[in-house]
Amino acid sequence: MPRSLRIAHLYPDLLNLYADRGNIRTLVQRCRWRGLAVEVTAVPAGDVPRLHEYDLVLLGGGSDREQQLVGQTLRRYQAEWRAAVAAGLPLLAICGGYQLLGEYYELPSGERVPGLELLEMTTVAKSPRLIGNIAIASAKCGTIVGFENHGGRTYHRHPPLGRVLRGHGNNASDGTEGVRWLNVFGTYIHGPLLPKNPRLADQLLRTALRYAGLPDELEPLDDELELAAHAAFLERRLQLSTQQTEGSHSPGEERLPAGHPSRPT
Ligand code: GLN
Repeated sequence: MPRSLRIAHLYPDLLNLYADRGNIRTLVQRCRWRGLAVEVTAVPAGDVPRLHEYDLVLLGGGSDREQQLVGQTLRRYQAEWRAAVAAGLPLLAICGGYQLLGEYYELPSGERVPGLELLEMTTVAKSPRLIGNIAIASAKCGTIVGFENHGGRTYHRHPPLGRVLRGHGNNASDGTEGVRWLNVFGTYIHGPLLPKNPRLADQLLRTALRYAGLPDELEPLDDELELAAHAAFLERRLQLSTQQTEGSHSPGEERLPAGHPSRPT
């Protein structure tokens, strides 16, 4: 029998804003529906994750205070993190966790929380906070929807996770949202992210299975409910029609619709 897919949820006691835990539940359930064995390890704050023991790591969102605490632990094992990510460790980092992958997160006081420096990326907190529903167009998974709430403006030159259709994204100015680099998926989108975005959930699972050396063919699931929730979010909350988002599904065609960004900040 093939071994289990091993998922680590890092510091759920500190980094679990906006139901980030729901992302783990989605991944586990999508494995179970397909008869794939999966194990989740919750790594409590202060513990050192044995990164080589996992096939997928989730780092959730947190407040500035919690980020400072987590940042200190993460930095102590920067070399291990760098080696693991360079070797292709799949990593899903949301909001506060995403910011910690960069060089620093500058607090409103001007103090800098050092990040892991896995990405050439910086984040500076500013007013107003960027809050609201968001939709992005991604090359591999079509539209991705959810909720964002961050003071940080993030800047980097890596490929983004997607282009903002509605909402703010990385910095409310360059039209990018999140990051897709090596097997790192970083994003400001929570709510949680994966229940309403099953294509992204499966992309993460395939990436993790491949990294684990397991067969990465995923049986299709009946995603009628998930896709209906996704479509309702796009149409009712964001007033985006299918025609407006259609062009965004093809790789390399990440054009912004006229009028972007939609909201002044
Ligand atoms: N403290 C960070 C910010 O406000 C991240 C917040 C979060 O994870 N929601 O930018």
